[in-house]
Amino acid sequence: MDEKRSLILKAYELLDRNTPLKTDCGRLCGSLCCKGDSKTGMWLFPGEEFFFEELSGFTVLNCDGNFGYKEVVCKGVCDRKARPLACRLYPFFPVVSSGCFDARADIRGIGSCPLLYKNIKPDKKFLTQIRKTGRLFSRNDELKQYIINVNCLLDDIVNLAERTAYYE
Ligand code: SF4
Ligand code: SF4
Repeated sequence: MDEKRSLILKAYELLDRNTPLKTDCGRLCGSLCCKGDSKTGMWLFPGEEFFFEELSGFTVLNCDGNFGYKEVVCKGVCDRKARPLACRLYPFFPVVSSGCFDARADIRGIGSCPLLYKNIKPDKKFLTQIRKTGRLFSRNDELKQYIINVNCLLDDIVNLAERTAYYE
């Protein structure tokens, strides 16, 4: 199997049962992050579209912002075992830097995800699994570079938010 696909399958396993909280965080917000529309997709990691192209309930689309990679749109319900990495990681994201592996909050969720705007501590095991995902993906140059690219984007959003707050 293609190396990227094989690593993504391993990451699916890492993040299969470990979720941001030990209880269902969807109860805090009415599962807000599953209530997108047909134009709101989850960004796919390089090669991840393979798992969704033929899968009922999902539509793979080209995406302007996702560094040349695709996005997938769902119908607001899914078999949890089939959900994409973006959903498994949210509202956190791996960090890969000089051989160090960490997890960070995904600032894109600050306005909608109560885990972020209420600063609720996530389950430690969940963060560990995200770090392990970063370590796993660092074995493949394309997956590693994708993580770096998304982190640059998140840094830009954080910097912009801080500058905007400064001038208010
Ligand atoms: S928006 Fe945040 S709290 Fe709500 S279901 Fe999604 S990850 Fe959980
Ligand atoms: S794929 Fe599943 S977890 Fe992800 S947004 Fe859709 S319904 Fe929610």
